[in-house]
Amino acid sequence: MEAEKVKACAAIEREDSALRDISLNIWDNPELAFDEHNAHKVLTNFLQSKGFSVEKGFKLPTAFKAEAESKNITENAPTIGVMCEYDALPEIGHACGHNLIAILGLAVACGIKDVLDSGDVKGKVVVLGCPAEEGGGGKLELIKAGAYEEMDIAMMAHPSQFNLPKPVYVAMSPVTVTFEGKASHASSAPWDGINALDAAVMCYQSVACMRQQFKPTWRVHGIFTKGGVKPNIIPERAELLFYCRAPTSKELKVLQRKMVGCFEGAAAASGCKVKYEFDPLSYDSLLTNDKLSSLYVANGEAVGIEFENDPLRLGKQGGSTDMGNVSRVLPSIHPKYSLHTEASGHTTEFRDIAKTQEAHDLTLLHAKALAMAAIDVYKTPSLVAQMKSDFQQQLKSDK
Ligand SMILES: [Zn+2]
Ligand SMILES: [Zn+2]
Repeated sequence: MEAEKVKACAAIEREDSALRDISLNIWDNPELAFDEHNAHKVLTNFLQSKGFSVEKGFKLPTAFKAEAESKNITENAPTIGVMCEYDALPEIGHACGHNLIAILGLAVACGIKDVLDSGDVKGKVVVLGCPAEEGGGGKLELIKAGAYEEMDIAMMAHPSQFNLPKPVYVAMSPVTVTFEGKASHASSAPWDGINALDAAVMCYQSVACMRQQFKPTWRVHGIFTKGGVKPNIIPERAELLFYCRAPTSKELKVLQRKMVGCFEGAAAASGCKVKYEFDPLSYDSLLTNDKLSSLYVANGEAVGIEFENDPLRLGKQGGSTDMGNVSRVLPSIHPKYSLHTEASGHTTEFRDIAKTQEAHDLTLLHAKALAMAAIDVYKTPSLVAQMKSDFQQQLKSDK
């Protein structure tokens, strides 16, 4: 292994126990979208203590930016972005393992910084602390605020059941549907009321019936967020929240039109008024940069990672991520890595796995693979131009 990579791996190993403490701290204190104050504090304090130049509350109160660069940086020296996520899910805590994503970002950055400091390569690393991945779209806000403009490429990795260097993440659009009817006494004068809950139930059922005409790659899942206040009042207001997902933005539009038919049909049948709004903060599908991904795989194999080769698993559809939007701004990778579990994300089983020593060790292993891939890019800056040109092609052919 090249000396710079040995150095980066050693730097990551040196931080092992500090990173373990941070991961457990974040796991023990799950915080929801845009409210990740504890995580923001422990992550930025660590980065500051390691000599990164840190901007707390960067563009958003719980986002941050931490930078390190080599001395006498040259003009064509690459700037590599490393993303951290650290928000949790309501009620089930860190069931997506973002405590691990947070320390993975720190580990990659520490590995890179050691090599940049030694002057072996020229370049810059920018760690971006990204709040609200689980809804809220922190990265979308950061894109709008120009946070990615100085970066050439971006990388992160997400814990999962499998080692998938190019996972399938689909486009997602949340929609809130509100039915408004008329309250009345449910026993003495039900005929005077207009039942908004019935409208919401019909809407939910219409979507369920419509599934037969959905493509196998489309997903719609919803919950009732309002359904009346008391059984003896005909519900005046009812509300549903659906997530609509499809592999491309174009298909997502087709799916959205079908959903609107279900909303309006239920309103007409019940006599309710309906309002719906597709959230403008939609998540885009993920574009993986092949060249960057191959560097991650080659370096991963060098540290003993076995990547998935079962075609069914390679094409397995995942969820959605705001890294999808980032992947359309600059060449990016967002691989999934295995925690040696059969439990899928967003379960209490996965949450408990995300706290284990084994999950921690696997996280640092993948951090080494990413840091080593970054070193390849610093050593051969012309790779950046190739990645950018492939990225432009990919964007064109995706439309
Ligand atoms: Zn998640
Ligand atoms: Zn996640």
